Amino acid sequence: MRVAVLDGETDFDGWRTAARALRMAGVPPGQAAFRIGSGGDGLFDESLPLPAADQASFSVPKSFIDLARDVILHRSEDRLDLLYRLLCRLGDEPELMKVVTDADVAEAFERAKNVSRASHKMKAFVRFRQAADDNGERWVAWFEPAHRVLEKTAPFFVRRFPTMRWSVLTPDGCAAWDGETLSFEPPATRDMAPAEDEVEDFWKTYYASTFNPARLKTKAMQSEMPKRYWKNLPEAALIPELVAQAAVRTEAMVATPAPEPNARLAKTLSRINRDRAFEEGFKPSNLTELDQAVQACRRCPLWRDATQGVCGEGPRSARLMIVGEQPGDQEDLAGRPFVGPAGQVLDAALAEAGIEREDVFVTNAVKHFKHEPQGKRRLHKTPTAGEVSACRWWLDAERRLVKPKVIVTLGGTAALGLLGRKVAVTKERGQAVELGDGAKALLTVHPSYLLRIPDEAGKTAERERFVKDLKRAKALL
Ligand code: SF4
Repeated sequence: MRVAVLDGETDFDGWRTAARALRMAGVPPGQAAFRIGSGGDGLFDESLPLPAADQASFSVPKSFIDLARDVILHRSEDRLDLLYRLLCRLGDEPELMKVVTDADVAEAFERAKNVSRASHKMKAFVRFRQAADDNGERWVAWFEPAHRVLEKTAPFFVRRFPTMRWSVLTPDGCAAWDGETLSFEPPATRDMAPAEDEVEDFWKTYYASTFNPARLKTKAMQSEMPKRYWKNLPEAALIPELVAQAAVRTEAMVATPAPEPNARLAKTLSRINRDRAFEEGFKPSNLTELDQAVQACRRCPLWRDATQGVCGEGPRSARLMIVGEQPGDQEDLAGRPFVGPAGQVLDAALAEAGIEREDVFVTNAVKHFKHEPQGKRRLHKTPTAGEVSACRWWLDAERRLVKPKVIVTLGGTAALGLLGRKVAVTKERGQAVELGDGAKALLTVHPSYLLRIPDEAGKTAERERFVKDLKRAKALL
């Protein structure tokens, strides 16, 4: 057995160097082991010559490297062995990463997805508490991520809170930002973080006031906010009581007659909102302003039955924009695009295509959820051409602000919203279409279509085509 010693659990460069040497020395997967040790530098228990620079000639697809960077953050013990097995197999099977039905490939994608989800949860559930040190005010958060995503996720907090001095403490390590430099420090324990502050009350008040008992879906709530995170969320202390009172509060809400609207105020507000959204020449100057204006939009009737308008999400400077049809049930409640089942399919396909979801601006052709009730469920209804046309104004505004180089449309409604004409997606799929402003469009199917294909073989084939389309879009960038 050849053993490589790595510097730490997330030492990707160390793993890469050692794995390359092992593969070049012809060590089969069952004979290679990776251990974590202090001061490790890719040492082996037997003398294993490292390849000279001109020997290190084999290459692997970039999609494998990107995937491996995420998989190594997974907490599973055998992740390094899984990656080495894939690395060795790529020698004889160069197209292996495209075979999503292969057990090793599927397992690696699943673990990368878990890591991505853990990173997303960290962004959503880190709660800073106020503290102070010799240099003044400092914000400190304690968080226990499901996987080792601290270094991957810390840059998000730098972008989000660039002017705050903050630290995120975790059992894996700590990230600290002093306004200029992001640094990483050794692991911490819960008692090193402040216990409580007055911001706690803010979170509780905010959560209690936004909790709608009539919309309570316990399963969906626990899937979005898993119980493992509750102990570090101030607002989570309210959940059991709010859930217990939900039925009674709902009955009381139903029984209470609707209050008389303050007619004068309602009229004034509606006029201001309408005027603002329709004002000749009104152009939102940033995405926040656009989001606020969408909430006031009355260009078509879809706002009436939706919880809120759902605008696009992603970096303002994204080079790739992805346009879907409209928010679904979960997106309508969350106020964010692509967080439901179709979003999960899209996330996995993007990862497979070697595209970071965080680099993409995702949005919809129509900003309000069109649906019809069936029992307790709200069933998706396709927007009409008129509604798509009315909402195109907002999609154009997003394009003006983000200025993407490539826009991928998912499904016919998205293509109609972008191009302003009816499109047979099956005919034009995968072709680049010039948009006149220097950007290109690429048409493909909606991920919800993949979810509806009944047979596994068909589903796999269509999924591969979908990933291929995303790769084409990436190549256009
Ligand atoms: Fe306005 Fe679009 Fe909502 Fe219609 S769907 S009300 S056009 S934002």
